[in-house]
Amino acid sequence: MLKETLRSCFNMSKKVIVIAGTTGVGKSQLSIQLAKQFNGEIINSDSMQVYKDVPIMTNKHPLQEREGIPHHVMNHVGWSEEYYSHRFETECMKAIEDIHQKGKIPIVVGGTHYYLQTLFNKKVDTKSSDRILTAKQLEILQSTDPDVVYNTLLECDPDIASKYHPNDYRRVQRMLEIYYKTGKKPSETFNEQKITLKFDTLFLWLYSKPEPLFQRLDDRVDDMLERGALQEIEQLYEYYNRNKFSPEQCENGVWQVIGFKEFLPWLSRKPDDSTVQLEDCIERMKTRTRQYAKRQVKWIKKMLIPDIKGDIYLLDATDLSQWDVTASQRAIAISNNFINNVPIEQERAPEDLRDLLSEGETTMKKLADWTHFTCNVCRNQDGKNVVAIGQKYWNIHLSSRRHKSNLKRSARQADFEKWKIHKRDNVE
Ligand SMILES: [Zn+2]
Repeated sequence: MLKETLRSCFNMSKKVIVIAGTTGVGKSQLSIQLAKQFNGEIINSDSMQVYKDVPIMTNKHPLQEREGIPHHVMNHVGWSEEYYSHRFETECMKAIEDIHQKGKIPIVVGGTHYYLQTLFNKKVDTKSSDRILTAKQLEILQSTDPDVVYNTLLECDPDIASKYHPNDYRRVQRMLEIYYKTGKKPSETFNEQKITLKFDTLFLWLYSKPEPLFQRLDDRVDDMLERGALQEIEQLYEYYNRNKFSPEQCENGVWQVIGFKEFLPWLSRKPDDSTVQLEDCIERMKTRTRQYAKRQVKWIKKMLIPDIKGDIYLLDATDLSQWDVTASQRAIAISNNFINNVPIEQERAPEDLRDLLSEGETTMKKLADWTHFTCNVCRNQDGKNVVAIGQKYWNIHLSSRRHKSNLKRSARQADFEKWKIHKRDNVE
């Protein structure tokens, strides 16, 4: 119901299908089935599958199983490069445009769910309507009396003003500035911010209950090794050594791929060292794969579902012997209505999995969260500290590449300062 209202508001005719879900649940297989049925092409949104080669380690869908369906944003980034979400945004948008131009349906598939934010308009757009401020407005904004600024905001947008303490001068001032520059109440801007999609988008969540999934993931690791994953790991290791990468860089780039860091002790062991066992590395790889799958489900529940206000359809891939009915046919039926602009009458989720979606709703309510978090290491272009509104966006900021690298830089600086003081003290 909510979906229909969202759609009619924005008159979006261009369609996109998204398949979310954990690693190893069958997203690639489903995407091929949908692409064949609806004349689609696939856009990869997995941060590891963008890297060149090592198809087994990155779980790229084998070429011979793609049935001729084109795949975009995949297998194009060198190992010395570091891929990041802004680049994904550019490449994904370009691919969507190209696919639409051919009159086909883009199907976005991948496990890096925060990349899906590319499909949302969530930035507060103050630039597009940068109005020139009047002398009176400037005078109010620059007033040194916090009450003047606060009371003006209270008149213009009482909803947003109520979220702040009058003494929270800088943020109150910022909100008033947004109001003047856009001519729109910040409270409205923020409310809209969460619901705007760039395209008419259908979200599908391919899900398996944990126990059967974990068993499948364990088996997949064994299978990967049998198909030659060790050779790929050695290939990576050779490049890693030749280019003098270090273990701490395993948080970045292709080195984050599950299985590389886990095998490092084994790869770098001395020939006579019997303390490093291959079995232990394999075990660690399995553990990390399961942890990753758990995090992915958490992200879908706590981030994706609230963002899209629960507008998602869950497909059950727990019992693979039922795949055709519970995953494939259900996905095709839902997509068919979506593509033909027929109201989707299918249930959001099979009865026994309905709780998964309502957990998301609970989070959604909690997310009416206006808490402001100021980052003390990151600054915007205007030199001001980065502020995130709401726990959710704060968490996104904390896990961003930009924040992590600023954090490291500031730690290095602190070290250096300490050293300078220490040195000076010694001299004196
Ligand atoms: Zn930061």
